[in-house]
Amino acid sequence: MIFKNYIFDWSGTLVDDMGPTLEATNAVFQCYGKPTMNREEFRTHFRLPYSEFYAEYVPNVALCELEQHFREAFAASIVPVTILPHAHEKLVWCQSQGIRCFILTSMDSATFEAQLDDLDLRHFFEATYSGVIDKRQLIGSILTTHNLNPQETAYFGDMVHDIETAKHGAVCSVALLTGYTKMPELLEAKPDWLVADYAEFFQIIASQENKISV
Ligand SMILES: [Mg+2]
Repeated sequence: MIFKNYIFDWSGTLVDDMGPTLEATNAVFQCYGKPTMNREEFRTHFRLPYSEFYAEYVPNVALCELEQHFREAFAASIVPVTILPHAHEKLVWCQSQGIRCFILTSMDSATFEAQLDDLDLRHFFEATYSGVIDKRQLIGSILTTHNLNPQETAYFGDMVHDIETAKHGAVCSVALLTGYTKMPELLEAKPDWLVADYAEFFQIIASQENKISV
């Protein structure tokens, strides 16, 4: 087995929540008289840590105030959050192989916990970490707490901050094109792997393991 442990981002990595996230972001902008963004503009400009994104587009407003507006608008959205293609079957596969799975996400904890249960995904994960604004500051302690060898661990994410977080923890960075950030920006961050989706990732894993066993 190439990797024994997988850490996943949540939004854009395991679930598609861009619809309600864009609605909620625009609701925040409208609260402060700022212009809204369309989907492409959002994908181009949104970045983590989101504190830096809001400092640029809605400066001089306390983050907790912005978060409150965001949470209310997100909860009010009727656009559903769905599991991304291939994600569920791959989590089932990980479970069958004894691969330990974790989540590290910036999403606020109450929203994340509700989605985890609504989508019936909780049982796949040994531990989850949500509401983490700067993931780089936590990756090290997650590895230590759960005794994960960085060389046997991959972090999956859809944004530049996810790649930076993986590098910070010295784990393999796997960038997915299923989420918020487009390919050129992800490539610039030099992930170890860049794949369209989980199907492609696991195809590569299977072919490498076949080579090893030959
Ligand atoms: Mg994400």
